[in-house]
Amino acid sequence: MSQRTVTLLGATGSIGLSTLDVIRRHPERFSVYALTASTRAEELAVLCREFRPAVAVMASTEAAETLNELLADLPDIRVLAGEEGLCEVAAAPEADTVMAAIVGAAGLPPTLAAVRAGKRVLLANKEALVMSGKLFMDAVAESGAELLPIDSEHNAIFQCMPADKVRDPRGAGITRILLTASGGPFRTHTVEQLRCVSPEEACAHPNWSMGQKISVDSATLMNKGLELIEACWLFNTTPANIEVHVHPESIIHSMVEYADGSVLAQLGSPDMRTPIANGLAWPERIDAGVAPLDLFAIGRFHFERPDLVRFPCLRLAAEAFVAGGTAPAALNAANEIAVAAFLEGTLCFADIPVIIERTLAATEVVPADSFETIFAKDAEARRHAREQIGLLTV
Ligand code: NAD
Ligand code: MG
Repeated sequence: MSQRTVTLLGATGSIGLSTLDVIRRHPERFSVYALTASTRAEELAVLCREFRPAVAVMASTEAAETLNELLADLPDIRVLAGEEGLCEVAAAPEADTVMAAIVGAAGLPPTLAAVRAGKRVLLANKEALVMSGKLFMDAVAESGAELLPIDSEHNAIFQCMPADKVRDPRGAGITRILLTASGGPFRTHTVEQLRCVSPEEACAHPNWSMGQKISVDSATLMNKGLELIEACWLFNTTPANIEVHVHPESIIHSMVEYADGSVLAQLGSPDMRTPIANGLAWPERIDAGVAPLDLFAIGRFHFERPDLVRFPCLRLAAEAFVAGGTAPAALNAANEIAVAAFLEGTLCFADIPVIIERTLAATEVVPADSFETIFAKDAEARRHAREQIGLLTV
C-alpha cells in the first residue's frame, strides 16, 4: 500500500469536500499537508480541526487573518495568504500529491507550481489546462509530474486506455474518443424556454451535485466544450477524433473506440468520489464510499447528438481549439465573466454564448508562447466581455 501526503487546493468546494471524504476513509494511507480556500475562513477552520494540516491558505489576506484568529488554539497550523501561499503549498517538498480543485483561471498558478515541482497532480481544475494547453503539457513533460485526470469523463477515458499509451492514441490503436455528456438540466428546453431560465434552475443539475460555475457550464454545454479541449491536450488528439454523445443517465462516463471495433467504457454511479479515489490511489483501487451500480434499477441507456443550435457553447469551444494560440484562454475568460454575470442576475442565460462569441471576435489570437501572454489575453478578454455585457444590459 502506497502512502501519500496531499495538498488540497480548493478544500471547501464540491471536489474538495469529496476528496476529504475519500481521505477520511483511509487514514492509514493519506495524510493532509495543506488545505486551501478562497474566502470562507469558518469552513476551512472546521476542516483544519479535523484534518490537522501543517499549512492552511486563504486566497485573501483578510480571510487569512480571520482563519488565524479561528485557529488561535492550534498554533502548529501555519496560515498563509494569497497566490504566493497557494503556490508555496502546491510546490512544497512535504507533499507528494496535489489535488487541483480551485475553480477557474485562479487555479492555474498553483496548479502549474505543482506541475513544475514534479508532483502527482490530480487535475479537476480543467480551466487551467484549457487556458494554457501546450505550455501546461510541456511543463508536465519537463518536470516528470504525474498528471492524472479527475474530471469524470477524462478519468473514464484514462481508465479505458493502456497506461503507457495515454499520449499516443494512434500507437494504442485508438480510433475515436466518445465523450459523454448528461445534456444538463435544459436538455429538452426549446430556444424560447432557454431565454429566461434562472440561476437556481441552471444550478439544479439532474445527476451531479457540483459548484455553481460548473453547474452553469453544464447547462450551457460549455462544460463539454471545455472538456473537449481538455481531452485534446490530455490524450494528444483533436476535436475531429472526439464525438460528444449526450447520455442523460450519466452512468457511462466516456468511451474509447479501437481499430478492431472494440469500444471500452467506464461505468459507475455519478459520484465524483470514484475518479477522485482512482487518482489518489492509482494504480491501486480503494473504497470510495460509492454505492454499487444497480443496472437493473437504471434499466436503459439513451444517446443523442448534441444540439449546437440550442447550445452554441460547444461549437465555440471546438472552434477556439482549432483557432489555437490564445483563443481557448480568451474563450475561458469570457465564459467566466458571462457565467458570473448570469449568476448575479445581470445577464440572460441565452446571452452567455453571445458574450463569448463577441469577446472572441474582439480579442486577437496570438501564439500562446508564454504564460505571461496567456494571462495578458485572459485579462484582455475579461475586459471585452464586461464591455459587451454593459452594451447588452443598457
Ligand atoms: P466549487 O465552487 O464548489 O469550489 C471551488 C473551490 O475553489 C473552493 O474551495 C473555493 O474556495 C476555491 N476558490 C474559488 N476561487 C478561488 C480563488 N480565486 N483563489 C483560490 N481559491 C479559490 O467548485 P467545484 O465544483 O468543486 O469545482 C472545482 C474544479 O473542479 C472546477 O474547475 C470544476 O470545473 C472541476 N470539476 C468539478 C466537478 C464537480 O463535480 N464539482 C467535476 C469535474 C470537474
Ligand atoms: Mg466532467
